[in-house]
Amino acid sequence: MPALLTRVLDLLMLQGTVTEAEPVASRMRRLRIEGPALAGLDPRPGQQVRVLVDGSLTRRTYSVWRYDPSGAVELCVLDHPKAGPGARWGRSARTGDTVRLGKPEGSFVLRPDAAHHVFVGDETASVAFGAMLAALPDGAPVSGCLETESADDRLPLPHAGRLTWSLRGATSLPDAVRGLSPAPGGVAYVAGEARTVQQVRQTLVRDAGWDRRAVLTKPFWAPGKRGLE
Ligand SMILES: Cc1cc2nc3c(=O)[nH]c(=O)nc-3n(C[C@H](O)[C@H](O)[C@H](O)COP(=O)(O)OP(=O)(O)OC[C@H]3O[C@@H](n4cnc5c(N)ncnc54)[C@H](O)[C@@H]3O)c2cc1C
Repeated sequence: MPALLTRVLDLLMLQGTVTEAEPVASRMRRLRIEGPALAGLDPRPGQQVRVLVDGSLTRRTYSVWRYDPSGAVELCVLDHPKAGPGARWGRSARTGDTVRLGKPEGSFVLRPDAAHHVFVGDETASVAFGAMLAALPDGAPVSGCLETESADDRLPLPHAGRLTWSLRGATSLPDAVRGLSPAPGGVAYVAGEARTVQQVRQTLVRDAGWDRRAVLTKPFWAPGKRGLE
């Protein structure tokens, strides 16, 4: 990368170093990125960061899994079958690598005062859900449906016992939500593959009578599209 571009990126983006890189589920790696520039960022649970993933200007977006205010951001990156630059980066990142990333952003965040919280999504969504669930106290009213390719793809989530897990190809997520039939009055967080997100939203609004504004949605990826944000 030309020196001038490097200097511009240093001004525009935060920089950190990978200090831990390890599997957290069968196809998901947890990357801990540390550095003084990452101190005091105060991400809201569910927010994401944009990461330069291949040593050029290619960006992919990842939810903040855990944050340490002394200066560490943890991400979990899925290694999916059509791996593009994001999945390849997640697969190959090593301790000592330099990472450039943006500040935490986004409005797909926990509504802490909701009467109950319903989480619906896939492997990618479960990263944001992990941060949101970790911010809820023991005994908080939580339910939801999570779909993964295999049982080994499940992230260790707080409050996991109150979530319903299914395998892709068995029950669809909209059907799983119909089965759960969550009563309106709380907040639903729906993320993952774009079309499924829309279908789940329709299920909650049309079939279960939820107020549209109480269903927070965020498409994380779509077949055939590259890096949605
Ligand atoms: C707000 C937000 C938060 C996100 N948080 C996370 C996160 O915490 N962890 C995470 O792993 N990803 C997350 N993503 C998705 C991430 O940004 C990338 O889209 C993902 O890593 C794929 O990038 P890629 O370069 O490998 O593939 P791309 O070049 O973006 O896509 C290539 C092709 O791969 C296929 N594809 C992409 N994703 C998947 C998938 N999950 N399963 C099957 N096929 C796929 C599609 O057909 C796509 O056309 C998030 C996205 C958004 C918008």
